[in-house]
Amino acid sequence: MRDLTTLPKAHLHVHLESAVRWPTLTEIAAAHGLDVPTPNPPAQPAQQAQGAQHARGVRETREAQGARGAKGAQDVQGAQDVQGARGAQEARGVRGAQEAGLGLGGFAGFFALNTLVRDALRAPDDFRRIAYEYCEDEAAQGTRYAEVSFTAAAHGERLGDPDMPITAVLDGLAAGREAFGLETRLILDHSRRRPVDRAWSTLRLAERYRDRVVAVGLAGDEAFPGDPFTGVFEAARDAGLHVVHHAGEAEGPASIRQAIGPGRSERIGHGIRVLDDPELVAEVRDRGLPLEVCPSSNVVLGFAPSAAEHPFARLRDAGLAVTVNTDIPAMTGRPLAAEYALVRDTFGDDDTACAALARVSVDASFAPSALKARLRTEIDAWLTTPAPAETGRPA
Ligand SMILES: [Zn+2]
Repeated sequence: MRDLTTLPKAHLHVHLESAVRWPTLTEIAAAHGLDVPTPNPPAQPAQQAQGAQHARGVRETREAQGARGAKGAQDVQGAQDVQGARGAQEARGVRGAQEAGLGLGGFAGFFALNTLVRDALRAPDDFRRIAYEYCEDEAAQGTRYAEVSFTAAAHGERLGDPDMPITAVLDGLAAGREAFGLETRLILDHSRRRPVDRAWSTLRLAERYRDRVVAVGLAGDEAFPGDPFTGVFEAARDAGLHVVHHAGEAEGPASIRQAIGPGRSERIGHGIRVLDDPELVAEVRDRGLPLEVCPSSNVVLGFAPSAAEHPFARLRDAGLAVTVNTDIPAMTGRPLAAEYALVRDTFGDDDTACAALARVSVDASFAPSALKARLRTEIDAWLTTPAPAETGRPA
C-alpha cells in the first residue's frame, strides 16, 4: 500500500476555525488573557471507538432534548458565530470532554473548541497565524489544493472590522502557499440561524476578495430553512461566485432539495441523508452534484454510529461523486490522509480506489482547469510509482 500522505488530493470541506492547532489556540487565548483549560491532546485515531461511543451518548441526549435542544449543537458546525448558542451542552465544555477522557474529541469538546476559537481570535496576527499553520498541516497530508471554509463576516462583526479577519487570513494563506506550496481558495460560509443581512455582508466580502474567494454558502443548523437566503445565493451565482451549502447531514432529503434547487448549491456539504430518498439519489447522480463526505466528523458528532456503519460505501456504490473531507480535523484528530486511510481500511479500498477518490476531489473542486490537469497527472504518477512493498523497501 502506498503512503496516503503523498497522494495528491483536493480538500473541499474543512473549516479553518475547526482546524486550529490546540497549542496555538491556547497560546493565542492566553495572550489575550483568557482562561485556557488544561487540555488533553485532541482525539487520535486510536481513540475513535471511544469517541463514537461518546457521540452516541450525546445523540441520545440530544434526542431526549428534542429538536430544539439540538439547535445549539448544529449551529457551531458552520460557524463560530459571534453570539453562538451557549446551551447546556456547551457549558459542559472541555471539562466534560476531559472527564470522558476524550481530550477535545466528542461533542462537548466540539463546543469547547468553537467557543474558545470564537473568543480567542482577535488580532490580525491571530488570523494570519492560524491560516499559515493550516497550510503547513494540510500540505503534510498531500493536499495540493484546498477550499477552506471561513466565517469571515461573523468574525468581522464581532471585532468591529469587516475586512480585518479575511485580509489577515488571506495573508496567512499566501505566506503558506509560498512556504508549503499549498494552493487555497476560501469559501465564505454563513450560519442559517443568523440574519439574512449578515449573509449579504458575506456575499459583499466574497465579491471584494473574489480573486481568492471561490464560493459562498450556508452552514449551521439545518433545522433553520435555507429559503430566506435564496436571494443572496441567486445574486452570488449572478456575480460568478460558486455556491456550496451544508445539507443532508442532520436533516433529510428536503434540506438537500432546497440546497440544490432554490439554494443553487453546486455541491452538497455532507449530503449523506440523500440515501433516504432513491429519487433524490438519482437526481443528484444525474446532475453530477458532488458530495463532500466527512466520515469522522459524522461519527464524532453522532450522525453515523461508527465508521463501519457510515453510509460512505453505499453513497459511492450508488454512483454518486463522493469526496473525502475532514470538516473539523482539530476535533476529530484526523487530518485528511488519515481520513482516506479510514475509508481504505473500513471499506477495503486498494490504492487504485484511493487514487480514484483523489481524482473525484479534484474534479469536484472549483480549481482552475490547468491546476486540475496538473493534479490529475500527479495522482496518476502516485499510482504508477511502485508501492514500497513491491520494491522490497520496508512498508
Ligand atoms: Zn462543515
